[in-house]
Amino acid sequence: MIEFKNVTKVYTTGTEAVHDATFSIDKGEFAFLVGSSGSGKSTLIKLILKEEEANSGNIIINGKDITYLKPKRVPYLRRSMGVVFQDFRLLPDKTVYENVAFAMYIVKSTPKHIRRRVPDVLAQVGLTEKAKMYPNELSGGEQQRVALARALVNNPSMIIADEPTGNLDPNTAWDIMNLLTDINARGTTVVMATHAKDIVKTMKKRVIQIEKGNIVRDDK
Ligand code: ADP
Repeated sequence: MIEFKNVTKVYTTGTEAVHDATFSIDKGEFAFLVGSSGSGKSTLIKLILKEEEANSGNIIINGKDITYLKPKRVPYLRRSMGVVFQDFRLLPDKTVYENVAFAMYIVKSTPKHIRRRVPDVLAQVGLTEKAKMYPNELSGGEQQRVALARALVNNPSMIIADEPTGNLDPNTAWDIMNLLTDINARGTTVVMATHAKDIVKTMKKRVIQIEKGNIVRDDK
């Protein structure tokens, strides 16, 4: 599903953010990406999303080597991934329903399909009652659930989450973790970068640790 073969990323500033990384994450896995601040977690995620280019090595996503993917193919790659960030990144002038529907609109889903699918995914994240509200009327946990609904709505094969609980209090963070566990149990691969040691410890999932750009630990 996600395979890194000897991947190195050096930014134009000269910082080597990822050094010779080799690992693979199988379909249906749940993997944490951990490491201190500045260790290279976000860079790994950006490489998976092809927001950054590797300097050397190969990255294979769903059986396809994306190293030399043509720019016009990148949107198709991203459709296989649902992405969630620490700061939610919702559209402030759209309602909960519209935020989720918009993700389907941009991949040219039919209005009929959108009308059927959005309520289902809002129900899955427990937000049926909040469909008409705007992001600034919601708690942080609710906003992150909208972001998860938006990430899920096009049925991606994987969810990539960069510090999704970073702005949430512990109880709310666990609500999000329970949702991610549920999503993973339905067959979606989950890759989550996090600082939250208690969450990683309790979940007992695979842990890939990166320090100073090097993969220093990989516990299944
Ligand atoms: P983490 O997500 O673990 O905090 P990052 O992947 O953001 O780590 O950063 C890894 C290293 O790469 C850090 O030294 C950081 O300063 C550097 N870095 C990250 N993004 C850029 C960039 N766009 N340009 C230059 N250096 C960067």
